[in-house]
Amino acid sequence: MLAFLTVASLALQSPVADTSPFRALGLPAASRVRSSSGAPGPDYWQQEASYTIRAALDTGPSLLTGAETIHYVNHSPDALEFVWMQIEQNISAKNSITYQLNQPPLHFAGGAVFDFTGKGFIGGMTIERFAAAGKELTRTEYGTMMRVELPAPLAPGAAIDFDVAWHFPVPPYGSGRMGRIGNRLYEMGQWYPRLVVYDDVNGWNPLPYIGAGEFYLEYGGYDVSLTLPAGYLVAATGTVQNPADVWSATMRQRLEQAKTADDRVQIVTKSEATAHGAQRIPGTRTWRFTAQNVRDFAWAASPDFRWDASTWNGVQINTFYRPGAAPWEEANRMARFTIQHFSETWRQYPWPHATTVEGLIEGMEYPMITFVPAIEKREDQFWVLMHEFGHQWFPMIVGADERRYPWMDEGFNTFIDYGAAEGYFKGTAYADTVRRELLTAFHVSAVPGNEQPLITKPVEQRDLAWGAYQKPALMLTVLRDRVLGRETFERAMREYIRRWEFKHPQPADFFRTMANVSGRDLDWFWRGWIYTTARLDQAVDSARTVGTDSVYVFLSNRGQMVLPLTLDLRFADGTSERRELPVEMWNLGDRFTARFATPKSVVGVLVDPTASLPDVNRGNNSWGR
Ligand SMILES: [Zn+2]
Repeated sequence: MLAFLTVASLALQSPVADTSPFRALGLPAASRVRSSSGAPGPDYWQQEASYTIRAALDTGPSLLTGAETIHYVNHSPDALEFVWMQIEQNISAKNSITYQLNQPPLHFAGGAVFDFTGKGFIGGMTIERFAAAGKELTRTEYGTMMRVELPAPLAPGAAIDFDVAWHFPVPPYGSGRMGRIGNRLYEMGQWYPRLVVYDDVNGWNPLPYIGAGEFYLEYGGYDVSLTLPAGYLVAATGTVQNPADVWSATMRQRLEQAKTADDRVQIVTKSEATAHGAQRIPGTRTWRFTAQNVRDFAWAASPDFRWDASTWNGVQINTFYRPGAAPWEEANRMARFTIQHFSETWRQYPWPHATTVEGLIEGMEYPMITFVPAIEKREDQFWVLMHEFGHQWFPMIVGADERRYPWMDEGFNTFIDYGAAEGYFKGTAYADTVRRELLTAFHVSAVPGNEQPLITKPVEQRDLAWGAYQKPALMLTVLRDRVLGRETFERAMREYIRRWEFKHPQPADFFRTMANVSGRDLDWFWRGWIYTTARLDQAVDSARTVGTDSVYVFLSNRGQMVLPLTLDLRFADGTSERRELPVEMWNLGDRFTARFATPKSVVGVLVDPTASLPDVNRGNNSWGR
């Protein structure tokens, strides 16, 4: 009878979906590869791709010619019948998506401009040879991606060596990430054919290189020999293996001094750089660099470089710049502060040097080396230089999928950048207020109907400056300051970095790590900030004194986003008190009566008194006086 009644009453009800803001996120199931705690599981695997490259730059036609051996180890449980390669120089080939679309530069509300085209340059990568065990392999190019058929399936645990030869003309403007100024300065990224990531989530990841989406790369070792005209100085990912061949005795002696120097030692002074740049030195010189456990390799070369070096905690800090780049006298100190700050706050910098090169690139990151322009305003110069070094942590150490999730790369980096800026300029008005830019950006960029969820792919984002950089930084600031508290937040974030260093985390791995380490269910937070464009509108409806010992404050949540609430109570005697309410206040719905024990008589209430939340309507945040 009881059972019959239950069935009948169920049948009369229409189904009700769970619309609570606190319902669980629909994350992919945990597995032995990616555990439910957010850590890599006992069966976690990733592929290894190691490169031995010999390349020569002919500065006459600016043609780079290379031959490489790729040692590829299949740690996956799958037999692979083909591999996918990235040949990003084809972004400027006529068959690339980027060349065909020729989209105008993207201008963003905050003033940022991104031009991902080659500005009309027609180039592209020519593959001369792609062989294994002496046999040419069948390959098919799709713009910036190339599929290569293997002679036999590559079994789990097996390795293969590819023998590849190639050349391409170096573009003057390589979609904002590499390029050259005439034949005097080369900044080289995306310059050699490399493996696409094969992972447990998507299998192969051959998403085309269009521009807005950056890179997702395997870790491995590099042994790179670069042959250039003898007068060129080269900076690169990795450690120089033949110093006596490429550096003068004077330079080597000054580098010795720099090993114990807190402030810059001039390895090449301004007058030496100017004199050197005017010389014509015949012949070529070959530089050999090696690097371990990196996911990419980049380099820069010029006959005109000045070079400053110092050392922090065993890390050599290098700044290379042209004699005309005046603000770069301070760049070494900025670089050293940055590497120290990020190391002490998040994780020790893991490589032997941190190098930045001044030049035409507006800002781009590679392992151990970054490309940064000279900028007049000191705060802006520090920001770009420091931001590119912040990428050593995200994504060079924590190797997330940038092509899909820029918020885990640009966003996490932008968040840690504010801490570095506050530190370097400590005691100035700039340091005290710089983070408030994020709230200003919110009011400019979070336009209803135009704003997109953070989870959107970068190539589909209409406002990349907001969606990839500023909103994630605001999100983590709110999480730290208003939800978890600094200590809990930083512990969880450091644990995320430790668990996923030199690995490939997915969004769910981050969410699970933050929840497990902080001890807080945060699904509601990520839903509001990452999967939707929910807006926050906290309000006070009224307040009254009850009896002689209580104040009731009637609060409401009028937007879709939920967050904890902070308010100031103002009393008739002129005093005020700040109270904080946890997010569970919204468990039963969007209205909450807060009861405070106080003998004082309330005359006013102010919600979010420091105006530090992105509340879309502050008009309803106060009651009384
Ligand atoms: Zn960046």
